[in-house]
Amino acid sequence: MPPPRLRVLGVLTSGGDAPGMNAAIRAVVRTAIGRGVLVVGIERGFSGLIMEKFVPLERRSVANIIQRGGTMLLTSRCPEFHERKVRARAADLLKRAGIGALVVIGGDGSFRGAHLLEQETGVRVAGIPGTIDNDLNGTGTTIGFDTAVNTALEAIDRIRDTAASHERVFFIEVMGRAAGYIALQVGLAGGAEAILVPEIPVSIRSVAASIRRGQDVGKRSSLIVVAEGEEPGRSFRIARELLRMTGEESRVVVLGHIQRGGTPTAADRVLASRLGSAAVEHLLKGESDFMVGVAQGEVRAVPLPSTWRGRKPFDRRLYDLAGILAQ
Ligand code: ADP
Repeated sequence: MPPPRLRVLGVLTSGGDAPGMNAAIRAVVRTAIGRGVLVVGIERGFSGLIMEKFVPLERRSVANIIQRGGTMLLTSRCPEFHERKVRARAADLLKRAGIGALVVIGGDGSFRGAHLLEQETGVRVAGIPGTIDNDLNGTGTTIGFDTAVNTALEAIDRIRDTAASHERVFFIEVMGRAAGYIALQVGLAGGAEAILVPEIPVSIRSVAASIRRGQDVGKRSSLIVVAEGEEPGRSFRIARELLRMTGEESRVVVLGHIQRGGTPTAADRVLASRLGSAAVEHLLKGESDFMVGVAQGEVRAVPLPSTWRGRKPFDRRLYDLAGILAQ
């Protein structure tokens, strides 16, 4: 039997905001309208869904947003969505509004919620990877990652000026929950003397050795890029331990939320545009419970649960290259 024709599509952003989410919303809205489907924006993620924060979106509603960071639909965390009865209520509200499918732009938490919603209630869902962390399988990069890397890199370039002028060691902590993808890219591109990521445990002693090796070959300053991992602010502890072990004084900069906002890069806007459009096309084919991503240059859809199962491979060769080039 052919899938029922999709007449109204819902779209929301959920979890941490990421630059490029707006470009994805724009692509969803304009692709859907171009295919004769009405679009309803749902504000504040799953929280807005259960509070019926529904707003009709036209082509013009998404004008002038492709270059803006954050999300015009607002986002939130919604602890209630962990409850089955709340998800059932969400499905009722969607049905009552005539919304036949839901596009969720967010990270793995948002996808878990979307997957449960579809499994339990039959609401059709599509995921678009919007998170700076890049910690989802099924796509080379997530929307927002490239911008976050470039933002952090700009900060690092500035800090290097000060580190060089004062002949100091700096620890620069970047975001990435349990994942070192931002740290790896930024560390290599910023010429860091060492990169500390959750994927590859490194002792303070070996950090001290990297600094000393640099000093031995005439380096007067060192930048160490640290992924926050599960312990935001851990650079302060590492700096204290370094001082205790070697007497080496250092400075710590935690970039924090600076990395989450800002104008999306061209790469993120292009990715968001491709994925927003593809999500709608796959839904129109009757598919559900998938995430769209770009792998080996091609847009493809993968089952939602496959996006959070297992760890996304960490590029060890790139990590080793950064180490070799820093010498
Ligand atoms: P992200 O999508 O960026 O990973 P979160 O992990 O904060 O962000 O998840 C966003 C929202 O998704 C949560 O506030 C919650 O409403 C929903 N969610 C997350 N995990 C689950 C889950 N296991 N079951 C149901 N809903 C979930």
